[in-house]
Amino acid sequence: FAAGGSASALSFYDAATDPHRPERLSLMGDLRDALDRDGLSLHYQPKFDLVSQRVDGAEALLRWNHPRRGWVPPDAFIGMAEDTGNINRVTRWVLASALAQAQQWIERGLPLHIAVNLSTRDLEDADLPARIGGLLSIHRVPASCLTVEVTERAVIGEPDIAVRILRQLAEQGIGIAIDDFGVGQSTFAYLRHLPVSELKIDQMFVKHLATDPNDRVIVRSIVDLGHQLGYRVTAEGVEDQGALDYLASIGCDHAQGYFISRALPAEAFAAFVAGQRGHAAAGAPR
Ligand code: C2E
Ligand code: MG
Ligand code: MG
Ligand code: MG
Repeated sequence: FAAGGSASALSFYDAATDPHRPERLSLMGDLRDALDRDGLSLHYQPKFDLVSQRVDGAEALLRWNHPRRGWVPPDAFIGMAEDTGNINRVTRWVLASALAQAQQWIERGLPLHIAVNLSTRDLEDADLPARIGGLLSIHRVPASCLTVEVTERAVIGEPDIAVRILRQLAEQGIGIAIDDFGVGQSTFAYLRHLPVSELKIDQMFVKHLATDPNDRVIVRSIVDLGHQLGYRVTAEGVEDQGALDYLASIGCDHAQGYFISRALPAEAFAAFVAGQRGHAAAGAPR
């Protein structure tokens, strides 16, 4: 089997003797193929504005439909792509695709805001601000329509260069969101040095908002903290009406979650936004 030469024979043989390393190598080889052959796609999860009660933006989420394994979730390969040095190519692809999509939506009269996730390694790449600036101008997308999402972990990893990169992005007018807020270490120290524009409350605190009084205290406190520091606040993982109502009642700015919609392919997302406009014209609430 080992001498068979084809990638699948090799990974079958190796997987039998060492379930970890070869699995990773073959998955990363497949990821490079996917990048070469346009095998990745982005889905867009609606961001719901709790004041206007409208979807006014999307978070781009990476989807990989693997030829043999089927759907591979991002959590199953992003970390590996970071470790093996493939993440920068992935991020370049994600940024180019998301901004090309944003350009289409803007040209079709849908002035949507778009958010893209960056990884720890991206914040070690000094060329990133110039590359994003170039993509914005190629696609004629205003910088104010783009937000990059970074986790606390990403910022703590390589503080000096990460801070410099984020400042350069913010100077261009790009939004900076802290993703999964509340579950990282050293939660507050770094906020003083960063040009943050948004906090995204981790879904852990949001899922049970309708019933858990402790989660309500935590979420209300994060919303207050964010607002007092001048940030917008988004709650992730909204799964029921009770959570949505509570978030609106405490003045949270945006909500995201399965109760509003899962991430959708680009066309379905545009139809979702167009449908909501139809409802608005007809006077229905949502
Ligand atoms: P994230 O950025 O925090 O994205 C939110 C994740 O929660 C998404 O999972 C989304 O589908 C899921 N989600 C949204 N609403 C709900 C809900 O109501 N309930 C539940 N249970 N889940 C919900 P997904 O797409 O599997 O992505 C997982 C993570 O992978 C993301 O977390 C992000 O850290 C990473 N990721 C995704 N796309 C990219 C990318 O293009 N680049 C990088 N570097 N990371 C990415
Ligand atoms: Mg995110
Ligand atoms: Mg998150
Ligand atoms: Mg996450």
